[in-house]
Amino acid sequence: MSGQLLVQPADAPEERHLHARMTFADDLPELRFVDQRTFGGMAWAELDADGIPESIGHIAPDPFENAFDLERVVGRLKASRSAVKRGLLDQRIVSGIGNIYADESLWRAGIHGERAAGSLTRPALRRLLGHAADVMTEALAKGGTSFDALYVNVNGASGYFDRSLAVYGQQGRPCPRCGSIVVREHFMNRSSFFCPKCQPPPRRRSLH
Ligand SMILES: [Zn+2]
Repeated sequence: MSGQLLVQPADAPEERHLHARMTFADDLPELRFVDQRTFGGMAWAELDADGIPESIGHIAPDPFENAFDLERVVGRLKASRSAVKRGLLDQRIVSGIGNIYADESLWRAGIHGERAAGSLTRPALRRLLGHAADVMTEALAKGGTSFDALYVNVNGASGYFDRSLAVYGQQGRPCPRCGSIVVREHFMNRSSFFCPKCQPPPRRRSLH
């Protein structure tokens, strides 16, 4: 949930919240783990036959992994009774899609996150997952989405995809597609952002 991996010259001063330091035999830069909020962790783990650490073997592949199987994910969502946004965030189904990218993909797909995943057609679910991969590809090209200085790459630089967000964090602003005012609602312990016109809410709210 937090923490930074930084590549630093060996003689760089220690960061205030430095928790681990990896030095290399070639005396070149170090890899440092810095974590202000201490929600992060490090583990030394054996790899399974697919090269995945055993401790995270229960986490499904993300859309960029070779092991990612689009039809399998569509099938899992189709069989799910949960709201579609919960399905996108369920790491047992697909990993890598966080709250921000889920909201942006749902907006692109014109789907309200509270709609039951199983009520959507397979082509709609395929399109939604395609949008998720697109949003994440664009975000990666811009170094990710950072709202504060804690989210940085190994060189300590922040990403700037937050400037490209259509709905996330945009409550009260016009939807870039139709001009309706973007709405914010509570979702689990976080928020959901959507356009009430492009993403009509389901008539009866899901109980999940
Ligand atoms: Zn709209």
